[in-house]
Amino acid sequence: MLDALGREIDYVRISVTDRCNLRCIYCMPEDGIQMMRHEDILTYDEIVRVCRIFAAMGIKYIRITGGEPLVRRDIIRLLKSIKAVKGIEKVTLTTNGVLLSGMIQDLKDSDIDGINISLDSLDRETYAHMTRYDCLQQVIEGIDEALRLQIPVKINCVSMRDQAGNGVLDAAERIRQVAELARDRKMDVRFIELMPIGYGKQYGYLPEDEIKDILSERFGILTEDDESRGNGPGHYYTLAGFAGKIGFISAMSHQFCQTCNRVRLTSQGYLKSCLQYNIGTDLREKLRSNGRDEEIEALIRQAILDKPEKHQFREAVTDQAERSCMSQIGG
Ligand code: SAM
Ligand code: SF4
Repeated sequence: MLDALGREIDYVRISVTDRCNLRCIYCMPEDGIQMMRHEDILTYDEIVRVCRIFAAMGIKYIRITGGEPLVRRDIIRLLKSIKAVKGIEKVTLTTNGVLLSGMIQDLKDSDIDGINISLDSLDRETYAHMTRYDCLQQVIEGIDEALRLQIPVKINCVSMRDQAGNGVLDAAERIRQVAELARDRKMDVRFIELMPIGYGKQYGYLPEDEIKDILSERFGILTEDDESRGNGPGHYYTLAGFAGKIGFISAMSHQFCQTCNRVRLTSQGYLKSCLQYNIGTDLREKLRSNGRDEEIEALIRQAILDKPEKHQFREAVTDQAERSCMSQIGG
């Protein structure tokens, strides 16, 4: 459906849990956040029902995220149920990849349309510093298993300024190493500018233009790729000799709000119409009080109509600004 500014909203990111098996420094504190009670998060039946209503309103793409979605029990069942919803054309997943290799055949069998794997460093020490867990090898295995089963994979790497020191790589080398994954593997590597949300506020972002300089110095000219990829805000470049492309999602330096096509559903059933603001609507209350489909649809419609024009991450923060963390919103 169209929002008040004429943007076509056809994509929903659904967070299925606020729990996670990592503690990325820009996303969660070391001892975790206060977990929600299980009864506070939407059940699979509730999520599938909302997906049916979304689909009837013109939503075509669903991405399952978290927290870490693979830690929620029976997640494959949910993926299969959403895949079966009439009108939903693609169901994808965003994961940190830690549990991927053990679940990869089930994911393939669920007919998943793609997996985005978050990976901030290929250096064991740096990875352990950034995620607070020493499990880089498991993630690499997950990536290679997914590729072996020909599941479309994209790598997401956060563009964050230096964390160098104590055996940790500087940002430039970290970025170069992750980009190099796309040399031999047919998968795109995307750099996502760190946004000042939750625990991310304490770090600076590394702008796209600086990353391009870092990469072209090592790998040669980045050539703009016109071919559109997926249904998101990423734009892509090719590098000579690389099997995969290099992408950028640059909410800070190249704001893309005028083409935003998405809304987000938190694990508690709150529909957020913009990443930055708390503006949205509580669907859980209506779902649990015998609300009819038409009533839920009306709430969704109003939330989409009220979608803010743009984020103001680089400007003064307003009362409505987001105060929770990315693990609760789902990225
Ligand atoms: N746990 C899964 C994962 O890490 O892929 C899914 C949820 S995680 C919140 C989704 C994505 O958000 C990850 O790629 C993570 O790097 C990114 N992210 C977290 N905090 C961020 C921030 N402040 N700015 C930009 N991206 C962020
Ligand atoms: Fe967990 Fe993903 Fe947040 Fe890292 S970015 S702490 S993996 S939810």
